[in-house]
Amino acid sequence: MHEPTLAELRKSGLSALMVPKKFGGRFDEIDPLAVCVAREAMMKTSAHLDSVFALQGIGSYAISRAGTEDQKREWLPKIANAEVLAGLALTEPVAGSDLKGITTVAHTEGDEIVINGAKSYISNGGHASFYTTLVKETDHGEPRYSLILVPANSPGLSVVPSPELIAPHVLGDLTYKEVRVPKSARLGGPGDGFKHVLATLAVFRISVAGAACGLMQGAIEEATRHVRTREQFGQPLIKHGPVSSLLADAWADYEAARLLTYATAEGARADAAANLDRSSLAKLFATESASRVVDSCVQVMGRWGLVRGSKIEKYYRQARPMRVYEGASEVLRLGIAARLSKEIDTWT
Ligand SMILES: Cc1cc2nc3c(=O)[nH]c(=O)nc-3n(C[C@H](O)[C@H](O)[C@H](O)COP(=O)(O)OP(=O)(O)OC[C@H]3O[C@@H](n4cnc5c(N)ncnc54)[C@H](O)[C@@H]3O)c2cc1C
Repeated sequence: MHEPTLAELRKSGLSALMVPKKFGGRFDEIDPLAVCVAREAMMKTSAHLDSVFALQGIGSYAISRAGTEDQKREWLPKIANAEVLAGLALTEPVAGSDLKGITTVAHTEGDEIVINGAKSYISNGGHASFYTTLVKETDHGEPRYSLILVPANSPGLSVVPSPELIAPHVLGDLTYKEVRVPKSARLGGPGDGFKHVLATLAVFRISVAGAACGLMQGAIEEATRHVRTREQFGQPLIKHGPVSSLLADAWADYEAARLLTYATAEGARADAAANLDRSSLAKLFATESASRVVDSCVQVMGRWGLVRGSKIEKYYRQARPMRVYEGASEVLRLGIAARLSKEIDTWT
């Protein structure tokens, strides 16, 4: 299922945006703005391509940031050339928004780390060549959360497809049973896991907003073309006040989301980590807007908005998961409000 998409990604050369230049990437460092532009264009035409592309960065960023030279040399050029797919395994049957609740554990035995546990709803699950896996290390009193680079062919690692979602997405549930990797597979030091997860989100959460903009653009195009030609009560639907209001508001939402997205991506170029709350804000606004916008577009298209397999139906389904993954809207709002409370006194 992935091969044609991977071939398309390879042909585009865009996977190189996800890796630093030293290891075959396009720019010296991964550029959040360039990733946004690419995701906006991809999401409009293929949510599948967008997701595969996004995971190339999301799954490998901790290697770019904290991997050893050997790990970087082994994996990053293959990511840049789209020869392999990456996965990031955080979520578990028990732990979703609250990742401190993970139960996948790791301990050291001699020169090895031994992993036991389960991950669920992992993008590219079953197709990725490695999973950057969040574990709880239990060797020393207090649990320490770490990221471990686990090759997909590690003995003891098995994958089954996750339950199918309302919008097609390649997802797998992973089981780790006495999976053994060398100690050098830990990305950074023991206990550095959340530092690298947050760094990954700081760069890539903003790109979900970019993808949401692409979806809105596609939906608005579909709906506007339809209502320009479809006539009811003697004139094209676009001339009816309520229809034009819905589309005008959709356009305003799209433009506002786009401005916020690209201003935030520009800020993230200078210092992505400092920009995490802004990225959350852009992701929140763009993905919530995408749901509103596509709903209006379906509405003005009447029964043609409801045809299974049509572009607009796909956008309608695809908009929904964006408000859940990489930070559910409600969880983002908590962080944004906390930041607001800190910043408010600096407003003039
Ligand atoms: C398409 C898709 C792709 C995914 N890919 C990956 C992947 O590659 N790797 C990976 O690790 N995971 C992946 N996930 C999982 C995703 O990260 C989780 O679904 C997400 O973190 C939310 O966790 P949950 O689904 O367990 O929801 P829960 O944590 O159970 O939360 C359910 C809802 O409760 C609300 N909520 C939760 N906590 C709070 C709070 N503190 N305050 C207020 N409201 C709250 C929110 O509305 C939330 O949507 C993917 C999910 C989807 C849908």
